[in-house]
Amino acid sequence: MSLNIKKQLNSQLSKDVLNVLELCSQTADENDFKIYLIGGIVRDLLLKRKSFDIDISVEGDAIKFCHLLAEKKYCKITQVQNDLKTAKAVFEHDVEIDFASTRQEFYPRRGHLPVVAKIGCSLEEDVYRRDFTINSLAMSLNKENYGDVIDYVGGVNDLNNKKLRVLHDNSFNEDPSRILRCLKFAARFNFHRDEHTKALQEKYINRQLHDDISWTRIKSELKQSFSLNMAKVYDMFLVNENYKLIYGERPDIKGLEIKTLIDKYQPEHVWLVYLATVLKNKNIIESFCFTRAEKKVFTDIEHLMNAHLSMMNSNYDIYKFFDKKSVESVLVYYLLTKRKEALIYLEKLYLIRVELNGDEIKELGITDGKQIGKILDELLKKKLAGNIVKKSDEIDFVKSKIK
Ligand code: ATP
Repeated sequence: MSLNIKKQLNSQLSKDVLNVLELCSQTADENDFKIYLIGGIVRDLLLKRKSFDIDISVEGDAIKFCHLLAEKKYCKITQVQNDLKTAKAVFEHDVEIDFASTRQEFYPRRGHLPVVAKIGCSLEEDVYRRDFTINSLAMSLNKENYGDVIDYVGGVNDLNNKKLRVLHDNSFNEDPSRILRCLKFAARFNFHRDEHTKALQEKYINRQLHDDISWTRIKSELKQSFSLNMAKVYDMFLVNENYKLIYGERPDIKGLEIKTLIDKYQPEHVWLVYLATVLKNKNIIESFCFTRAEKKVFTDIEHLMNAHLSMMNSNYDIYKFFDKKSVESVLVYYLLTKRKEALIYLEKLYLIRVELNGDEIKELGITDGKQIGKILDELLKKKLAGNIVKKSDEIDFVKSKIK
């Protein structure tokens, strides 16, 4: 007997979403389309978890199907990708749905992006391009079997047993970013890899070369996993030797240590703090095509780690050492070196600034550029030592210099 999850659907999804699914269902029936909820949303419905993205798989041409919905004024099509025949549409109350045509893919080069072999194939053929059995479930949206779960790969069983299982032995060779997806799902759902999947993963990871990899996908998955800010993601990343994928070095750091620092100092790029403790390889850093701000974290770390560490006796010395470095890089420096000055900087000094600027000092009567620089430095020293607090004190100090 097939599993039907109409009840879960009605209790877990909002009225607005249910109405939209009903419109899609009617339109599919009227026009002989077979459509399904697919992937993450079906998994999350079965897990009774909140799901964010709604993906519908259309057996046939999803763009054509979307146009039928748009003609009836049910939605606005906001995005179309002709090569994959996918579309995005927005319905009433801002309900957004991704529509994809069923497709078969193959990987011409190991690790690189797949090439579409066939569009509009059967649902069963579509399912085999997916990563894990728990992400390969579909739920029919056609009236005659609305809510029926379609499970070609034993995904329901794996969900019940909290197992992450790939669909075939070549899965990680095709797309190594699935190793990181595995990490993400394991942490998020508290699932485990089945023994065979674990063995396949270890075999892939212990290959010497990981050059034939899509770094874009790896980066995206690392970002998602580490942005969860879960200590166990990091611990598993180290224990399962996932860092070898990016030619990383295993540090003696615990996830909880990083999470505690992140929660306290709230850096903007949480994921980079985790990542930068293992990623040192310059070529890989280049391959990641980091944004400017992201790249700065790595260059800051490099500077700090290579800087000549003289004695840091005063707050001023500490301030100068870390000045203008990103919070992320100071945290990573602390994690790697355990130099307590890094935390003194973040805790006490990071936000200290001289309030007066050069122009204001000029207006007070000091015109020589060099002298202004010297005064600013003296003001900073005094502020860091706690001898000056308010702006008025800064002004008094400048005036005393004029005298
Ligand atoms: P999340 O809750 O993190 O969004 P999701 O499973 O919905 O999880 P997506 O990245 O949105 O994740 O992917 C949607 C679906 O596409 C997945 O459920 C899976 O079936 C498939 N998929 C995504 N990435 C891959 C991949 N690298 N290899 C194979 N299938 C994938």
